[in-house]
Amino acid sequence: MRIAAGLLFAGAVSLYASGLAWSQTPAAPATATPQAAPAPAPAVAPASPKAACANPNALGIARVVEIDTTGGPGFGFEHFKQLDFLRDHEVVLTFDDGPWPLNTPSVLKTLADECTTGIFFSIGKHATYYPEILKQVYAAGHTVGTHTWSHATLTNKKLTEDQRKEEIEKGISAVKWALGTAPSPFFRFPALQHPPEMVTYLGSRNIAMFSCDLDSFDFKARNPKQVIDVTMKKLDQLGKGIILMHDFHKHTAEALPELLHRLKAGGYKVVKMIAKAPVQSLPQYDDEILKDAKLPTLSARPVSSVVQTISE
Ligand SMILES: [Zn+2]
Repeated sequence: MRIAAGLLFAGAVSLYASGLAWSQTPAAPATATPQAAPAPAPAVAPASPKAACANPNALGIARVVEIDTTGGPGFGFEHFKQLDFLRDHEVVLTFDDGPWPLNTPSVLKTLADECTTGIFFSIGKHATYYPEILKQVYAAGHTVGTHTWSHATLTNKKLTEDQRKEEIEKGISAVKWALGTAPSPFFRFPALQHPPEMVTYLGSRNIAMFSCDLDSFDFKARNPKQVIDVTMKKLDQLGKGIILMHDFHKHTAEALPELLHRLKAGGYKVVKMIAKAPVQSLPQYDDEILKDAKLPTLSARPVSSVVQTISE
């Protein structure tokens, strides 16, 4: 399904690069300038010094791009064609449907071994099942976004508009509950199905939407090799892109070490995307997930010791 890009921008979008993390290459100049916002913004000062990467051959992080999500910008050329901020041979790694035992921790270990990072689009229910795993994702400095409460396909005509909003909002509230702090205003529609009215709604909520440039189709893969082959073939054709994978899936977790080696060998560089500000959850849904999932209230939980890495 294609959405006219013009629909998607109610407000200004600004992107800028900030510094360099773990990379083996010099910092790239801050030139990520979408057509909508040519004015360069100041670079973000490092929040704290980052521990050096122990792996001298790590894939690393080439640059950090901060997103002003005002108006709900869209990313990923499969659906959103306005913001072409990646340079040749740059990739963004994205992982959907977690947190999940074994596979998500395995993905985290692989990313840590390569001193690199991704965006995790978590399902709200899964966040309530495994909050400690999602906390590990966040503590490792990855960007955490959301992917609805129960992975409902929001183009399903049986769902009312209120039910669709509830899927989005409860997903956000659940991830916030699990982390003990609000995630990024980054959202991916299940099955990349984008109902226009929810695209408009997310715009009004100042939440960025993520499609992808290339889908690894890892959920269809029969083995890890297939995940690698499909991803590298598409990437070599496109030359860059936001890659859609699933930390939920075993084959993906198993494929990731070799896939990251192949990215490095192919001269690809990872771009980290962060949000300028966290998402604002709605109190009504914060309350609802506590009731529905019979979760303890945030105040009954220890204050998270997790510290968000905003920039390296
Ligand atoms: Zn999904």
